[in-house]
Amino acid sequence: MSTNELTTICGRTRYANLDLDHLRASCVDLGQSAIPGAVPIWVIVGAAALGFIVALICRVLAKEDAWRVIMTSLETGFYGGLGAWAGGAAGLIFAQLVPPCWMGLLLAVLAVAAMIFAILATMGGGGDIGWKLLGWLEFLAFAVGLAVVAVMSFSVPAHGRAAGEYETYLAAVSSCGAVAGLVDAILVGVYRSVPFWAGFALVPLNASWGVLGNLLGLMHRVASWNFYADHGAFVKASDRRLYTRFGNGFRVKHNFAFTSGWVMTAQNGLEKHEAIHVVQHLLLGPVFVLSYAGWFVLWFLPGAILGLIKRGSPVKGVNDMSYYDNPFEIMAYAVEGAPDDGQSRVLIFGNALAWSLTALWILASIAVAILLFFVRLSP
Ligand SMILES: [Zn+2]
Repeated sequence: MSTNELTTICGRTRYANLDLDHLRASCVDLGQSAIPGAVPIWVIVGAAALGFIVALICRVLAKEDAWRVIMTSLETGFYGGLGAWAGGAAGLIFAQLVPPCWMGLLLAVLAVAAMIFAILATMGGGGDIGWKLLGWLEFLAFAVGLAVVAVMSFSVPAHGRAAGEYETYLAAVSSCGAVAGLVDAILVGVYRSVPFWAGFALVPLNASWGVLGNLLGLMHRVASWNFYADHGAFVKASDRRLYTRFGNGFRVKHNFAFTSGWVMTAQNGLEKHEAIHVVQHLLLGPVFVLSYAGWFVLWFLPGAILGLIKRGSPVKGVNDMSYYDNPFEIMAYAVEGAPDDGQSRVLIFGNALAWSLTALWILASIAVAILLFFVRLSP
């Protein structure tokens, strides 16, 4: 990030002596943050070069035809530059919209999530021990990176002069988004995960609006590649659909499919279900992740209590109410699969109630997001 970033965002405001409240009130320029200049051009060019080189090496090692290697490398270079720019710009915009302490909390939760991914993958994956150790190094680097940006976010003082810390915070969150956007863009290019005619729009969409899901998607990639047999059994048939699909990659529960961002683990017969989650992620961005998690948390206690009473098991209750009754699962199960563990549907909502709640919950989530956005920007 350029050192005069805050100068650009604040315009003519003399900001050096401002406290956090005044910085957040007077130094907001979302348009400036979105133009390519928000991410230095040398970063974008470097990202493009890195994408080109990585794809070239991977595709040559796969012994593909020369023309295919060259086209994929050019495409990946293009995505690398786009991903770094879009991720960096989105990081800068979200850093201005969200209070630093909330951003710090979110990043801290993600750092913990990285460790949970690592533990679950260690237990569930059947990969070689050497690859698993490398995976742990990758996850530790991932978590430490997120934790460092979280600390920088928490370091912005709530009272008194805060310009220096605030500037560091903006640059750190922006860099975090840029790195995540770049790494994912390169892997999307190498795996050929998007239709070639839509990648120019989908890659920056995933890196920016989808930045929260993208961070989880990167964890899914690390877990599947390093911890599972045959590197998660990447399914070649998923070429150029809308996602990267592992046939036997990371998942939370044995025999279940799992999707993070636009990265999925799906056995045959569950791909369409998981694809619905990818579409939810691309359309609703951070609203999808937070709204899904919000429903899960909200119904956790009622699910546990009702599960104990009606099904003799708090775990089954949580599974029914936090998961099967989740509006985003209602939509996905309507397309493929059935919410049935072969025993009881007493805590699974009937169609009319399920779809009413689905519409209500999703509309309410969107409304809250829009409201927060306008409250933040109101003078
Ligand atoms: Zn699902």
